[in-house]
Formats: sequence, C-alpha cells, structure tokens
Amino acid sequence: MIYLDYQATTPVAPEVAKAMHPWIEDRFANPHSPSRWGREAEAAIEVARKNIEQATGLKGGSIAFTGSATEAINWALKGTVEKADKDRNRIITVATEHAAVLDSCEWLAEKGVDLTILPVEPDGRLDLDLLRRELDSRVLLVAVMQVNNEIGVTQPISEIAHIAHGAGALMMCDAVQAFGRIDLCGGPDLVAISAHKIHGPKGIGALWMRKGAEPATLIHGGGQERGLRSGTLSPELCVGFGAAAKLAEERANRDYDHVEKLWVAAVNALGPGWTINGSTAHRYKGNLNIRREGVDAARLLADLRDIAFSLGSACASGSGRPSHVLRALGLDYRESRSSIRLGFGRYTKQQELVDACKRIAAAAHAQEKLDA
Ligand code: PLP
Repeated sequence: MIYLDYQATTPVAPEVAKAMHPWIEDRFANPHSPSRWGREAEAAIEVARKNIEQATGLKGGSIAFTGSATEAINWALKGTVEKADKDRNRIITVATEHAAVLDSCEWLAEKGVDLTILPVEPDGRLDLDLLRRELDSRVLLVAVMQVNNEIGVTQPISEIAHIAHGAGALMMCDAVQAFGRIDLCGGPDLVAISAHKIHGPKGIGALWMRKGAEPATLIHGGGQERGLRSGTLSPELCVGFGAAAKLAEERANRDYDHVEKLWVAAVNALGPGWTINGSTAHRYKGNLNIRREGVDAARLLADLRDIAFSLGSACASGSGRPSHVLRALGLDYRESRSSIRLGFGRYTKQQELVDACKRIAAAAHAQEKLDA
C-alpha cells in the first residue's frame, strides 16, 4: 500500500507510540486523582500541554484538550455565541470551510444567528475587500481556516484577524491542516488543532484560546480543564499529542523541505494533462488536488486499490455529498468528478510517490483510450 492520504490522517510517529506506551499499560491512574500515580499522570499531561502550546507559537493564550478538532470547533463557535451580547449576533465564514465549521454555523443559524457564508475566488482565496464590505458592528465572529483540507490553499489569517478585530469581532481559525506542517499565523482569538494530522493519536484535539476570549462551557461535569471542558483526560492521548507536537516543531524545516521536494517529484511524474485545483502560489505543498479532463476519478480509485488517495475530502466521505470546496472554486460536476487529492508528508518516500503518480497517470490514460 502506498499511503497518499495525509489530509485524512497521518501515520503515528514511532516516537509518539513509544511515549504513549507506558500510559496505556501500567501507568493507568486517573490524572485527576490525588494519589502519587494520579499526580504523575497529571504532570505528564501538563508537560504535553506546554509542548503543544510552544509548538503553536501563539502568544497570550492557552489550550484546553478536546476529543477532536471537530469538538474544538463546535465549542469555539457555539460557546462564543452563548457568551455574546444580544446585539452581536452575526457570524461570517467562507464557503470552503470544513464541515465542522459549516455545519455548526448552519445549526447556529437555525437557532437565530445571522450567518453569512462568503464565496471564494476561483483560486480558493478569500477576497479581503469583500470581507471588509461585509463586516459591521453586529459581527461577533469571523471563522476562516488556515489551510484547506481538500485543496491545500492557504488564507491570509493574520490579515483576516486584523480586519475582524477592526470591526470589534473575534476571529476563529481552523488550523487543523496547518499545525505541525507550516507556521501558524498569529492574530486569531480561537484556534482549533488535532493530533492525528501531525503523526499523533486519533481522538484528541485542542482549542487554543486567547486569554479573555474563552467560549462558554458546553461540556459540564467534573470541572476539568479549568471548568471549561469537563471529562477525565486521557494521559496516553495527551502525552501522544505532546510528543507529536514537539517532534513537529523539532523537525519543522526538514519536514517542510521534504514536502517541497515531493511536490516537484509528483508533478513531474504525473506529466502533462493535469490541472491543479486551487492556487499554486498560496498553498501547502503536501496537498496536490488535481483534475484531468474526461477522467472518472472513482474508477481510478477502484483501479488502483493499493494506492490510498482520495476523491475529495475524506472527512465527508460516505456522506454522499459532492465536494462543496471544488464547487466553490467554480468547478462543474464533471470537473469535480475528475478530481483527485494526493496527500503526502514526513514518511512518504520520493520513489513510492513517483511510482504511484506514474501509475495514476497511466490509469487515467487507459481510461481515455477506452472511452475514445
Ligand atoms: N478541520 C479540518 C480542516 C480537517 O481537515 C479536519 C479533519 O479532517 C477537521 C477539522 C476535523 O478534525 P478531527 O478529525 O480532529 O475532528
């Protein structure tokens, strides 16, 4: 199997698995219990928290652990609305956001929030003048992601936060696909991240909150996480997340350079006839979303079962939903159906990527011949 689905999830780093192991086997104490074992588990969680906070590079806030980035995003959006003054009842977001943002916003709209979903330019970027024109004194929150999960396109988050703040609004950033891969942009008040996209375990995320911008509590109970998010923390998941974040920070330049080289190798190996979906200048290069006229991407996937790649967003796979991101770029139904996403990163070997791309190109070519 050649794994080219790094946006869906990433392989757990060996260092992460090793760090988690003792907390799964013998060191099983509840980190909130006062026993010596409990205090040791709590201390390990606090080390992990510090490592994650440091790896974000963000200043003036702290994280709370959550069960996923989806939970962090739900909490950020719903908890901010819960806490808001009545006269700030508007949210602005973007058509290419992840379902965790869009569906939470739609849910809030059903409860009476005034929701504006801005379109993007054909390259997937937000027009900042459009955002400026839309902002008014009723806007509570602007929610924009740093790196798109389907097409890898980046948004100018610091500028967006600056514009939002100018209108007295808060800014939330879904940084799930950015954290651990590129530097996080400063400026947002709330930032959602996830461990399994950075070679950590699944089932844990975090919400970074600027001091004073903490959303209202949505999960009540034992008062963990400063009373903001109750529930017994998992030492093994927190430690794994911390180890993954530390490793990503230490390896940042090496991983980045590796991905840049892989991108060039993949584009060359695919050869002519492919169009890249989304901006090539403003993107994370570990995401290569491409289309080819006349290709049936689902058939490609079926023909190449030993290569793990994706049709659209793996997060929404099984939902039967067509890609809202490709539609937002202006792609028609046929173009979307001819699009595939190749995702690669730290553990992808250049040769396996080149082999996979050549086989994908050959399979696409074979389809053309068959259909001719
Ligand atoms: N946001 C983006 C951009 C994602 O890519 C994903 C997952 O694919 C999520 C949010 C949800 O993250 P999690 O799997 O931790 O819930």
